[in-house]
Amino acid sequence: MTEALDLHRFELADISLPRSLALAVHAQLGKIAPPVPVDNIARALDIAEIRTDIFDGFEGMLLTDQCRSQGAILASTRHGQRRARFTIAHELGHFLMEQHVLSAEDGFRCRAQDMRETREGRRHQKQESQANEFAIGLLAPFRMVDLFLSKDPDLRDGQRLREGLDVSLEACVRRMIDRRQEPLAAVWSKNGQVRYSTRNGGFPFVHLEPGDRLPQISAAFRAVGNNSQGFTAFTEIHAAAWINRTDIDLFEQTRVGADGHAVTLLWADAPEPDETD
Ligand SMILES: [Zn+2]
Repeated sequence: MTEALDLHRFELADISLPRSLALAVHAQLGKIAPPVPVDNIARALDIAEIRTDIFDGFEGMLLTDQCRSQGAILASTRHGQRRARFTIAHELGHFLMEQHVLSAEDGFRCRAQDMRETREGRRHQKQESQANEFAIGLLAPFRMVDLFLSKDPDLRDGQRLREGLDVSLEACVRRMIDRRQEPLAAVWSKNGQVRYSTRNGGFPFVHLEPGDRLPQISAAFRAVGNNSQGFTAFTEIHAAAWINRTDIDLFEQTRVGADGHAVTLLWADAPEPDETD
């Protein structure tokens, strides 16, 4: 039995920005070592019950009312324990951000695609996006992420983050891209077909849509075709494979995982503004 945490929900009540909210929880926690104890945090913040199981039809659910007088969280382990930890943090985000309007009669019901939502569009998307931002901020604060980053971008850091923070590889790679200064993007694929891509501010638009085949001139295409699990080295590649730009030096590295899953990290080396002027 772990010791109960001493956290104060009233001190979080007026914080509406997810990033600030996660930082405020960590300020109360003090300098803890990873992984972040999300279950204990939720319980200390008035979540009365947390149930994990293989649930059908949703990834996570928060049972509550609009004024948050009570809270219970259900998290599916269908995609593993690490995904369930993220889901618990996501639902805790809905609970603490009292401006979030219930998405079901008795609380919030969140699907797998909601857990990847980053758009600030309609209310539902915005709420899901904010719950995700809170969740990753809680489970992977930059202070902890920095402990695992190498000097140069490397997908292996994503795997080290996964082990150290007990967060899924997908979430860790996204967080690494957010944290690093270099222009980076990641493309997730299954059986050689793109699932989705993400990028940080400095990286150009990736011209692939979900369902597209991996470009044949990419190193990722060869790595996935060989089906040898593990990491490739970073190699320079023709930029046109991934982006509509040819004035950029582009490097890629792929991790081939199990069951046809792969992730490719793209690193763009844009010309310095000084050199082009
Ligand atoms: Zn949600």
